[in-house]
Amino acid sequence: MNIFEKIVNREIPATIVYEDEDTLAFMDIGPIIKGHTLVIPKICYDPVTETPDEVLTKLILVAKRIAAAQMKGLGADGVNIMQNNGAAAGQEVPHIHIHVIPRFEGDGHHWNWNAKSYESAEEMEQLAERIREGLTE
Ligand code: 5GP
Repeated sequence: MNIFEKIVNREIPATIVYEDEDTLAFMDIGPIIKGHTLVIPKICYDPVTETPDEVLTKLILVAKRIAAAQMKGLGADGVNIMQNNGAAAGQEVPHIHIHVIPRFEGDGHHWNWNAKSYESAEEMEQLAERIREGLTE
């Protein structure tokens, strides 16, 4: 059982901000910015590509409500919504979750977003073609 399932089962404590039949939202124990909230399905799915569409729909709709609540309740100026898949992408807990992170003007956090470039238009096109080929529906 993963740590988020233990939170769902109340085997370990968490500070819950929202709950319904299928979904739980609780405070991240290691916030990027204070107020950082995680939205999870009560049933474990992982990764996003293995998660049913109806579960993803519920998750993003709850994440939207949490984002609005962070702006209204915390006075956030903006919100980052993130979702990691796989260790290479920084995922630690193998139970799908959406990060909802409140952002404030001058909060001092900077994503290490080092934009790179393609060698050529052809290289970009080749990669785009491989993605198109990967689309199954
Ligand atoms: P990931 O890196 O998998 O996308 O994010 C996992 C998140 O879960 C991290 O931001 C981490 O701080 C949070 N986290 C890990 N263990 C616990 C826990 O026991 N309780 C809570 N509330 N958050 C946790």
